[in-house]
Amino acid sequence: MCTLWRVLWSTLTAGVPPQQHGILNFAASMKGKVENDAGELVDGMVQMPYTSNSRAVPAVWNMAGENGRSVLNVAWWVTWPAEEVPHSRIVASYAAQVQGRLLWKSGVWEKGLPEHTWPRELRQEILPALAGGADGGPLSAAFVRTFGKVRPGPARDFRSHMAGLFHVAFRGDGTHVRIMREQLRREVADLNMVYVGLPDVAGHYYWRYREPDRFRFRADERIVGELQGHIDKVYQQADAWLGELLAEVPEETIVLVLSDHGMHAFNTETPEDIAQGGLQSGGHEDGPDGVFIVAGPGVERRGLLPAAERRVANVFDVTPTLLHWLGLDLPDSARGVALRGLMTAEWRAGHPEPGRKDYDAGFRARTDPREPYIGASEDFMTDLVEGLGYIDAGK
Ligand SMILES: [Zn+2]
Repeated sequence: MCTLWRVLWSTLTAGVPPQQHGILNFAASMKGKVENDAGELVDGMVQMPYTSNSRAVPAVWNMAGENGRSVLNVAWWVTWPAEEVPHSRIVASYAAQVQGRLLWKSGVWEKGLPEHTWPRELRQEILPALAGGADGGPLSAAFVRTFGKVRPGPARDFRSHMAGLFHVAFRGDGTHVRIMREQLRREVADLNMVYVGLPDVAGHYYWRYREPDRFRFRADERIVGELQGHIDKVYQQADAWLGELLAEVPEETIVLVLSDHGMHAFNTETPEDIAQGGLQSGGHEDGPDGVFIVAGPGVERRGLLPAAERRVANVFDVTPTLLHWLGLDLPDSARGVALRGLMTAEWRAGHPEPGRKDYDAGFRARTDPREPYIGASEDFMTDLVEGLGYIDAGK
């Protein structure tokens, strides 16, 4: 199953392969306490989701902030605990799609998720946005207006379970977009980044209803009618969120919209995926490439490229390109290049080829993954295995 995207987002923002950045999967197997059949805690192996301290090299926000560029980073993958980066505002994400569950797990955000933000006092500023995302709050109402009510059902009922997690993912994204918008309004940084996970979640859950003809075992027609529009509505919502953020930045901003993969119909041949509780109906395996859209001052306007020319970048080029736009040198360790070919000849003339620099020197040592609260790792892994159907239990 797809285990790679947590790795990929780290590769995108570190500019080096997993063996170098050290985020090798969703989670690391580590010694810890597990419950035995008698309910006692005993020594065993636990799955701990990777956290920012387990990354071995600086990410683009470390490189930018350490070199005098201001940074605003909201909910990027593997950013909890929020790192102490100079000139930065970081709102950390522990687990992206399931972040919502963690944020609104009874009392977590009210008591304060430890090291959720940098600077630490930024946490106070985002409390109203967190409150707005809680179940029953304004974002719940917005969800119901767009997607309808989440219908209660048996705990293992396919649709109610799926809708519950979809609802949480919507509130997580909506909350992070609001935080991003409010922080941009306060001050636009040199490097501003936000992660939205809903299109991915919707693709996994609702492809079966979006394109029922692609599946040999068709879903019930009534359910198709009810859920067929969900993926399209999610893309409209993501566009609307993007529009809200663009309204907060000056015209002379370079904007990069990026996904780490495309999706397609998945599990099309067998009914077992539903029978056994696996929920994926869209997947990334052999799916199309992700999107890469760049616009702004100095960017060569080319519109949608012909199919044969669409592969303009690979994952290793993103960090070098961002650093080049920020007027910084590329890391010695960079595998990719700054994509100068995306820019106009005039821009290139005014911005000479970047040099190289050792960003790794003096970077803190990597340490084992941490937990924001006791049981968080287990909650996260349960969501991944049972809820999203992303990974096989026990792997
Ligand atoms: Zn996915």
